[in-house]
This record gives sequence, structure tokens and C-alpha cells, in this order.
Amino acid sequence: RTVYVNGQYLPETEATLSIFDRGILFADAVYEVTAVLDGGLVDFDAHMRRLARSLGELDIPAPCSDETLLEIHRELLRRNGLREGLIYLQVSRGAAERDFLMPDEPTPSLVLFTQEKALLESPTAKRGIRVITVPDQRWRRCDIKTTQLLYPSMAKTEAVRHGADDAWMVHEGTVTEGTSNNAYIVEPDGTVVTRQLSEAILHGITRSAVLAYAREAGVPIRERAFTVAEAKQAAEAFITSATSLVTPVINIDGHDIGGGTPGPVVRRIRELYIEESRRRLLA
Ligand code: PLP
Repeated sequence: RTVYVNGQYLPETEATLSIFDRGILFADAVYEVTAVLDGGLVDFDAHMRRLARSLGELDIPAPCSDETLLEIHRELLRRNGLREGLIYLQVSRGAAERDFLMPDEPTPSLVLFTQEKALLESPTAKRGIRVITVPDQRWRRCDIKTTQLLYPSMAKTEAVRHGADDAWMVHEGTVTEGTSNNAYIVEPDGTVVTRQLSEAILHGITRSAVLAYAREAGVPIRERAFTVAEAKQAAEAFITSATSLVTPVINIDGHDIGGGTPGPVVRRIRELYIEESRRRLLA
């Protein structure tokens, strides 16, 4: 596999980064994951807007222009012949002598790699996933997409050890989001409920596309916090992210949702999302 690091395309075994990179020492870095379908990029512009926002919140300079970022994405897809999967991009504040005080004039580092993944024909999308709930113990700026992912990684690992697939995180009684996805329930009347945007959740690019497509298709949407008890009683539940697209949740803390099989609302929204995304791919 060819990867990109600071201006160079290299075999993955030859790519290097300084051990003093602040991404390594302080998780002083932000990232984006863009889905690739049919060899094209899904929602690329929205990902680059969110990247710019994350960088701005942390005062990390942009490593290059959006046009250059697009060229790198395209070149990496081409070199790796990737048709379906994802492109990971990370920008850190770069290397500096280890000090909590941030350098005045950082030189950001930029890393990209591709991962092949079956997004459309994924077994979990057909079957649905099981989640457990855990306390949300992340820092309070979950709207910034930083690489500080130890807690969500612990939570997902705990979920899998309990025989589930992922964890939903809970703050003051309400679900914030999944470890790497946004969380939704469907009320008995078909209303889709997902938490409103704030600093408590990542502003998912898939979330905003799904809500727009669903609204256009006449699906009632309410953006509000929901409790774990409510979720367990829901008609359906699901998650969204660049790599899971729209994936049903069929069990929460051992309680089957919708009889333990994916329901009609989530199936329709997944199809709608895939169809609309494919129409808008950036080749
Ligand atoms: N929430 C969290 C915590 C995430 O890490 C992610 C994606 O990685 C998402 C939500 C979904 O965001 P997106 O739809 O932009 O992939």
C-alpha cells in the first residue's frame, strides 16, 4: 500500500514521522475519514470544511490548500486502485521539543492512507449491531475531531468483550453518541430522533447528509437528547458514520430493538443515503 506523509508518496513500510511529533506525544492532531464508493469520494467538501474548523479550534495551521488535499486524495486512490473503503487524513501540530507549551510557529505534519473496506455489502449492515451503554468519559470538546481516542477505543473493546459490537456513551442520563458514530432512535410514529449539535458530540458529516436527505423525503426528524430507557423502548435504532454509512442497532444492553432485526425506517434511510451519496460522488 502506498501512503502519503509530508509531501511524499511512499510504501507504508518506508513512511516515517518524528518521535517528537505532537500528534504522538499529546494527541495534538485532528483527522478526517472520507468514505470511498465506486472509486469516488463521499461528501469531500464537507469533510474539508470540518477539518478546517477542527484546525481552527486548536489553532493548528492548515498544512496546504483544499485543492492540494483533493489532489492527494485522488492520487492515493489512484496509486492504490481503491474502489471502496476509506481515506484517513491526519494533521498534527508537527514535531517540537516536548513541552506542554505549544510552539509559536508549528510546522504541521500531514499523513494520509487508504483502507479497503466493504461498505455497501457489509454483514453488520444486514444483520444490525448490538451496543452496550457506557458513561461518556471523554473530554468536553467532542465537536473537535482530535486523535485523542483512547476512551472510545476502550469503550468499543469493552463492548466487544461483552459480546456486543460497539458502545453508546451516556452523559447525565442521555445518549451522546457511539464511539465512532452518531446515534439515532425511531419513535413508534416513525419520527427519527438524534441528539442536537453541541460540544458534546462530533458533528457527523454522514449525520448532516442523512438528515437532509431524510427531511427531503418527508421523514419527520427531531434533534433532541434521548435517554437510555427511551432508546430501549424505541421502534428502531441506528448509527451513522463515514464507514458504517447507516447501520441498524438491533440490541441495546441486552434488550432487543424492533424484535432484534433491522426495521423499515433504517433500511429505507440506508438505501436513500447510499443512492444520494453515489449521485454526488467526487471522482
Ligand atoms: N461521532 C464520533 C465520535 C466519531 O468518531 C465519528 C466518526 O468517526 C462520527 C460521530 C461520525 O462522523 P462522520 O459521519 O463524519 O464519519
